Amino acid sequence: MYEFRCAVPYCKTHFTAPTEDELMGEVAKHVLVKHRIANPSKSLVQFLKDNTIREVPPTAKTG
Ligand SMILES: [Zn+2]
Repeated sequence: MYEFRCAVPYCKTHFTAPTEDELMGEVAKHVLVKHRIANPSKSLVQFLKDNTIREVPPTAKTG
């Protein structure tokens, strides 16, 4: 399972998805809707992957 926590200080968005691909799809929607970024650059996507996403063990339940 993968977890996303938005890196924007005033944005408390946090969600999880079973795969990294699904999570990145949700992240793309999030940055579009909340942060008005329609076409994140490769470097932004890499930044998001490095700084806002982490893999969590399937046993760790989050709410
Ligand atoms: Zn956000």
